[in-house]
Amino acid sequence: MTLINLAYLVAAIFFILGLKGLSSPRSAPRGNMLGAVGMLIAIIATLVNKEVLSFGWIIAGMVVGSAIGAYIARKVQMTQMPEMVALLNGFGGAASLLVALSQFILTPNVYHTTSWLVALTLSALIGAVTLTGSLVAWAKLQGYAEKALKIPNQNLLRMVLGLGALVLAVLFVWQGGGLILFLLMVASLALGILLVVAIGGADMPVVIALLNSYSGLAAAATGFVLMNNGLIICGSLVGASGIILSKIMCKAMNRSLGSVLFGGAMVSDEQMASIPGKEFYEGKVKSCGAEEVAMMLENAQKVVIAPGYGLAVAQAQHVTQELANTLAKRGVDVKFAIHPVAGRMPGHMNVLLAEAEVPYDKLIEMDNINPEFSQTDVTIVLGANDVTNPAARDDSASPIYGMPILEVDKSRTVIVIKRSLSPGFAGIPNQLFINDNSMMLFGDAKAVLQDLVRAVNEL
Ligand code: NDP
Repeated sequence: MTLINLAYLVAAIFFILGLKGLSSPRSAPRGNMLGAVGMLIAIIATLVNKEVLSFGWIIAGMVVGSAIGAYIARKVQMTQMPEMVALLNGFGGAASLLVALSQFILTPNVYHTTSWLVALTLSALIGAVTLTGSLVAWAKLQGYAEKALKIPNQNLLRMVLGLGALVLAVLFVWQGGGLILFLLMVASLALGILLVVAIGGADMPVVIALLNSYSGLAAAATGFVLMNNGLIICGSLVGASGIILSKIMCKAMNRSLGSVLFGGAMVSDEQMASIPGKEFYEGKVKSCGAEEVAMMLENAQKVVIAPGYGLAVAQAQHVTQELANTLAKRGVDVKFAIHPVAGRMPGHMNVLLAEAEVPYDKLIEMDNINPEFSQTDVTIVLGANDVTNPAARDDSASPIYGMPILEVDKSRTVIVIKRSLSPGFAGIPNQLFINDNSMMLFGDAKAVLQDLVRAVNEL
């Protein structure tokens, strides 16, 4: 047992070093590897535990699970990553719920300490909330239920259900009983649905980070049920890192966690009604072609590329790097401006650009690149929208007012590459597109960049 606990401690050290590695794109692959090694040590330590009675079921589960996991991981598109994470969180919650139920069923006449019963209750409660909450989040991201569903008195209902679950939890710890545990499970499953169903699709990635934290907390509670130190450590790390990530995302979107959880949609009905329509752009937008932009780039000394969600949709990361290389060979200083919530998941742009082998020192975080825009000749806004919208800085009536942005509008010239004048995630028009120093280069990011590389090479 001592050896097993020692192995869990070593695994925990690997997890912590892994998490530290994930804090920067350069060290992230190593961090990922360290985390995986930690998990391998934890799994082996668990399997050699003499409390394991039958390997048959475990091996069967591992084979089926690994096969399904490998298939899905190969098939999933980069843009579907948040959906996949939502589902995986839900499975984590389901596992905690099932372990709690099975431990209760398997030990009917055994005396249990209060702390064990508290752990079992938390494992069932948080596991059930995570399961249904994650499934609703997945459905919303898949577009099955995109809008925030308005339920009359939803906050009151949530409070009643939450209190009901709490009373059942106390009752179960106090006197036990299968019926109470069953009712607690039903109330918690319903609470998970009610907590997430009212939140707008725009806030879903934050909710997913939060549900990730819940799945960790449920796993930690399950660790106490099973008296497994590895699971307690692992669950606590997931719980803590999930909550930190939720806070970081909220800050970058200028939202408070409370307003995400209890405020309903990101854009209120009143704000929605005041958002201008197509007339916002009428007669004010200048568009240009690839050849024109190639000439501007040829004469530029400093170029910044500000990528956004459109880069992910178009899968244009490789041709973006090709353009950057082509310009660099001509003596142009090219950098990439990285907004913390560009795209649809934290680190989305870093992952895409790393895939195209853009050197890490060319990826400049928002706070560091913003002072450089005023000395930039040309900024290419590549499938980004909200994260460059000056309204977030200048218009106090804007729904995204206060969200930190990439201040691309301070560059001498801004070229915006996107397919149309459609809004981004927040659903609002972008002042940047009608600024005097802005020009639109319409089209799919990948196709436009291919034209641009060709045009630069022909100069
Ligand atoms: P946006 O969603 O604001 O805009 C993306 C733009 O990409 C669209 O306007 C679209 O315009 C364009 N686009 C789509 N497909 C293509 C294509 N094939 N080629 C060229 N352009 C394309 O993205 P941003 O990255 O600027 O902002 C991210 C938004 O997501 C923010 O509002 C942020 O708060 C939110 N968010 C991000 C999270 C994260 O963790 N990263 C989490 C939660 C929310 P068009 O259709 O005209 O081409």
